[in-house]
Amino acid sequence: MLIFHDPQCADYGSPMRPEQPARVIRTAAHLRAARPAWEFRVPPPAASIADAALALVHTPAHLKRLAQPRDFDADTPFFDDIADHARRSVSSALAAARHALAHRTPVFSLMRPPGHHATAGQAMGFCYLNQIALAAVHAALDFPAAPAATAVSTPMRRVAVWDFDAHHGNGTEAILGSHATSSHLFFASVHQHPGYPGTGTRDLGPRIRNWPVAPHTPRAQHLAALRASLDAVLAFRPDLILVSAGFDAYARDPITSMTLERDDFATLGRWLAEARSTPSSPVIPSAAILEGGYSDDLPLLVEAFLSSWDNPV
Ligand SMILES: [Zn+2]
Repeated sequence: MLIFHDPQCADYGSPMRPEQPARVIRTAAHLRAARPAWEFRVPPPAASIADAALALVHTPAHLKRLAQPRDFDADTPFFDDIADHARRSVSSALAAARHALAHRTPVFSLMRPPGHHATAGQAMGFCYLNQIALAAVHAALDFPAAPAATAVSTPMRRVAVWDFDAHHGNGTEAILGSHATSSHLFFASVHQHPGYPGTGTRDLGPRIRNWPVAPHTPRAQHLAALRASLDAVLAFRPDLILVSAGFDAYARDPITSMTLERDDFATLGRWLAEARSTPSSPVIPSAAILEGGYSDDLPLLVEAFLSSWDNPV
């Protein structure tokens, strides 16, 4: 198991907010102690991510706005250097996607801010840049050295995003659904509804699929929706699966009303280890990126997911 993590991702924010530095500080410390064989690697610095690379999915106005010291919404304050923090999350997600394709082994981006609520033109829901959408588009285009949003070349890879965060990945949905490479992109989300941000109540065509799950749904039923969503991902026959791994569908998460237990996150990891388009085809390369997860048990949930993915039993 390779984990991309830059400790600088804990250098902003406040313990008064659910999306706080301790999430990653405690998770990194726990994984280093509990799984000493796992490798930690610092992703390339924020400066390695050019505006042009971000402009493949984000608007120029949004990139400018990230530097302006005004809050984006009540959940999404302006913090000093937030644009650089968000770029580091992007850098880590891109590194994870590249690693998955090159080595076909489990890889996780343990970073903040999360990204799946950020749209092309708006920061929201603790998210500033949408790193999973960026990783999907860059991977579809084989990581263009000099990307140009105005001249997207023919995509060469099929990329699916599987989002099991308890909140709908509205930003990822909007970006992947309308992008110039969208014929090569697939999005599946399982999320609490009603719940933030209120979207994701239905499919938007065959490649944008949603499984809304009611609050307090029994975990077996929630897990069945997750299995159906992953089966839809596999039916797309992706060359790469990117996972928006949020751990806030956990029964004791403070900001949701779902019922998953630690064992269920282990099940999701095992499914990923076994993810094939057909029974005889090879396991599909996959990379996971931390999105939400706000309970004190986050380190244990991440460990359960990663360890069963790394070493399925
Ligand atoms: Zn969430």
